[in-house]
Amino acid sequence: AKVHGRNQLQFFDQAMTRDLVRKKEIESELRAAIQKDELSIFFQPIVDLKTGRIRTFEALVRWFHPEKGELRPDEFIPVAEETGVIITLGNWITAQAAKAAAQWPKDLTVAVNLSPLQIRAPGAALGILNAIRDAGLEPWRLELEVTESLFIEDSENTERFMEELSSHGVRFALDDFGTGYSSLGYINQFPFKKIKVDRSFVSGPNIGRKSDAIIRAVAEMGSTLEMDIVAEGLETVEQVEAVRKAGCTLGQGYYFSRAVPDFLAAMLISQERED
Ligand code: C2E
Ligand code: CA
Ligand code: CA
Ligand code: CA
Repeated sequence: AKVHGRNQLQFFDQAMTRDLVRKKEIESELRAAIQKDELSIFFQPIVDLKTGRIRTFEALVRWFHPEKGELRPDEFIPVAEETGVIITLGNWITAQAAKAAAQWPKDLTVAVNLSPLQIRAPGAALGILNAIRDAGLEPWRLELEVTESLFIEDSENTERFMEELSSHGVRFALDDFGTGYSSLGYINQFPFKKIKVDRSFVSGPNIGRKSDAIIRAVAEMGSTLEMDIVAEGLETVEQVEAVRKAGCTLGQGYYFSRAVPDFLAAMLISQERED
């Protein structure tokens, strides 16, 4: 048993080392990738479920690695968060997204995902205001998507950050709603304009009467509080119909479009406005 135990330990050790090596690799390559232009921002439309028209594009970062191919954000964003690279990366993403959005018609907004660490950085709110000013984007055309993980620690700082940006017109969306603590207290305390219901309520193994009732309740609350409720991860027409009937005002998902590069986003916009 002892030998077995030792082997197992060794196995874990090797696995941990491999993990660490890969992390270190991603960290140093990520710093270089920004300079080398390997990163780009893609845009996924968020659609008005009444009119079918695009209202917002969510900015989603993509990394085209010369050897590893396309790396998904789920793989490198956590490393960027652990290592602090997210500060540099996040500033770059916000600036790029704001520049692209400044070219769109003025009724369209852009949504940018924020990591908790970005909010904690000194001067974070000012940095974002500077980025949109430099891009020539009106503050109300920027939406910042945050998750509930933000409120677990440091909620005072978070509140200050959100109040400061909100006072300039920047909007906030509560992302992945339903996956964390989903406390209604957060919605009460912080200035959210939008709630994004996680895609696990729309598709997957736990879909049914219960998830439908939850979406209805959230949508009902949204309409009373004059907040938009976005259904994420819509892939089929049946799902679109269901969330529309349940009262969601906006939808996002492969049914409408995947995230696309900025020139394709511009094409989607002009196609929609031709007729
Ligand atoms: P998220 O913020 O919840 O973004 C939505 C994710 O769902 C995106 O994955 C999007 O491509 C995917 N998605 C959209 N529609 C559908 C659908 O119909 N079906 C399915 N199966 N998936 C759909 P992506 O781009 O891989 O991003 C994953 C996560 O990485 C994001 O989740 C977000 O948490 C993080 N992320 C992405 N870009 C950024 C960024 O610029 N900054 C930060 N801090 N995080 C980012
Ligand atoms: Ca998001
Ligand atoms: Ca989400
Ligand atoms: Ca997420």
